[in-house]
Amino acid sequence: MTHGERLAYPKFIIRELEKRYKNKNINLHFIYDIACVLFTHIHKTGEVIPQGISMAVPAFHVYGHKLQCQIMYSTRRLPGFGLTDGEGMERL
Ligand SMILES: [Zn+2]
Repeated sequence: MTHGERLAYPKFIIRELEKRYKNKNINLHFIYDIACVLFTHIHKTGEVIPQGISMAVPAFHVYGHKLQCQIMYSTRRLPGFGLTDGEGMERL
């Protein structure tokens, strides 16, 4: 990468995951620091989140977001994320 974080990268990853797991009946849980921004961006551009992919903001990062994000995107509130906090990369 020659520049900062861009939404094109997670969008690319989501599209690749969709291609690889399309007909495999798998639910993918995508945890990203600004999943709320990505979600809004994808909807604004008229695209849709592929079925079977759900997005969340890491459990500790989400406290830096607005209350609405905390309610809608916290791994603690979304089904299927279990007790993961999504902060594994931060521990490295
Ligand atoms: Zn947010």
